[in-house]
Amino acid sequence: MSIQVFGLPVSRGVAIGRAVLVASSRVDVAHYFVAAERVDHEIDRLRQARDAVAAELTTLQRDLPAEAPAELSALLDVHLMLLHDEALTGATKTWIRERHYNAEWALSAQLEVMARQFDEMEDDYLRERKADIEQVVERLLRLLATDDPAAGIAGMAGARDFAGEDPLVLVANDVAPADMIQFKRSVFTGFVTDVGGRNSHTAIVARSMDIPAVVGAREASRLIRQDDWLVIDGDAGVVIVNPSRIVLEEYRFRQRQSELERARLDRLRHTPAVTLDGEAVELLANIELPGDAPAAVAAGAVGVGLFRSEFLFMNRDGELPDEEEQFEAYRAAVLAMQGLPVTIRTVDVGADKPLDRMSPQELRHEHALNPALGLRAIRWSLSEPGMFRQQLRAILRASAFGKVRILLPMVAHLSEIRQTLDALARARQQLDDAGRAYGRVEVGAMIEIPAAALMIDRFLEHFDFVSLGTNDLIQYTLAIDRADESVSHLYDPWHPAVLQLVAHTIARARAHGRGVSVCGEMAGDPAFTELLLALGLRSFSMHPARIASIKQRVLRADTRRLADHAAAVLAADDAALAARRLLSAPTH
Ligand code: PEP
Ligand code: MG
Repeated sequence: MSIQVFGLPVSRGVAIGRAVLVASSRVDVAHYFVAAERVDHEIDRLRQARDAVAAELTTLQRDLPAEAPAELSALLDVHLMLLHDEALTGATKTWIRERHYNAEWALSAQLEVMARQFDEMEDDYLRERKADIEQVVERLLRLLATDDPAAGIAGMAGARDFAGEDPLVLVANDVAPADMIQFKRSVFTGFVTDVGGRNSHTAIVARSMDIPAVVGAREASRLIRQDDWLVIDGDAGVVIVNPSRIVLEEYRFRQRQSELERARLDRLRHTPAVTLDGEAVELLANIELPGDAPAAVAAGAVGVGLFRSEFLFMNRDGELPDEEEQFEAYRAAVLAMQGLPVTIRTVDVGADKPLDRMSPQELRHEHALNPALGLRAIRWSLSEPGMFRQQLRAILRASAFGKVRILLPMVAHLSEIRQTLDALARARQQLDDAGRAYGRVEVGAMIEIPAAALMIDRFLEHFDFVSLGTNDLIQYTLAIDRADESVSHLYDPWHPAVLQLVAHTIARARAHGRGVSVCGEMAGDPAFTELLLALGLRSFSMHPARIASIKQRVLRADTRRLADHAAAVLAADDAALAARRLLSAPTH
């Protein structure tokens, strides 16, 4: 039967594929794909584990003390029987052979299937056998865990050589940003998660992969079963489970349409972004890793406006990258950008981006106390001065190879500016002492805390440029956790208070003759392009995949006409509606 699950649309487009379910309770089970030539080996691992568990159970049974209740021996018989039951081992082998799942993943997938069948049984006695099958699988998993180093859902990233035929979509309770980053270039053609907000970092990374995604779909991982066919409608935020043939046809048609649209927009790649009235607009890329830089160039970005350097610090089991490793990474990004500027943001860990990969439960526990208001971003860097200087030196050194700018996240206090500039001066001094080369580097601040926007004039005395981090600016202005789906309906980029802070920051930066850009998700949202142009913005930084559609809007815009309406939009009760009415480009 076809059902629909509703969530938040976070990444556009339509994905159609089979569900790969990662239940939250099973995140400790290793999940990865095995290459075609390793399938037999993997089935062998399963067979060996089964034989070992069978031997274990037989020994247990043999050594039962004479006074042990007869039920115990009978129970071991049941476990032995289950262990050899085709419904378990036969079907598990099929997951390995047909889907290329590793043995642990295949086992937990099959457990999931069987557990649901048991749940649906009328007979109490049979329903209770579910616990037995769980115990048997647990024994098998424990045995398999001893011979395999890969763990966690991140292991699935090694899926590049997967040769399966059906496209796959990932369904999980939650995916940490650190795991999401591993999925870049993986086999998944879509994502669905139970939790998460529209602008959580997990959603942002999904968007940067340009893969349809729905988050905050609450019951998704409970309602969807392994291998179900899914349609992910990333525009509407709907997941259709086992769609009818007609619905499937309709979505396949939409998929083809958006491919055509993409190809059409692709042709704008090398067209300069200039408005109808001749205003040049800078369209920059947001990247997470140096490996994203070539895609930025290919998409026609004229530089990197935000390199989220914290992603270099994740998935490292507590061992942070040293100066040399960071330098190599920054230099790689600079070289890949072929002379175009690269804006490297100093590490912004904390909140929903912990340093190490944690399960969602651990994450919640670890950060029980208002993580978004805690020790994150520049606060964390200033509390680790040695590490901070190491990062600054690495960035400075990369500037010997191209145009580099430093961007500081979450600055709110003038004392933070002073401390940061001191750290930078010391880093330069240390490089001078060591005889290391570095170039001229501009320094900018993210304006993403209302206090910073309100103090913009004072901030501009110290910085060469500013960049509006609208994702956090919205979160902190409206007191809405950007990663919490239960309040996501209140996370409103059109809120007049947010727009006023954005407008004020742009106006003051321009008045001071300083560069100003927007690097939050607002920059890549076509609904905001005209308004931002009307407010005087001429620099936008976004996921490379968004550049073409924003450029299309820029090419159709007349900034003089738009500017005439800016005040009316800011004063409107419903700014979104006012923007649509007053600013939309006339259709040709
Ligand atoms: C922002 O807050 O808008 C931003 C660009 O930074 P991040 O999303 O990484 O917090
Ligand atoms: Mg931010």
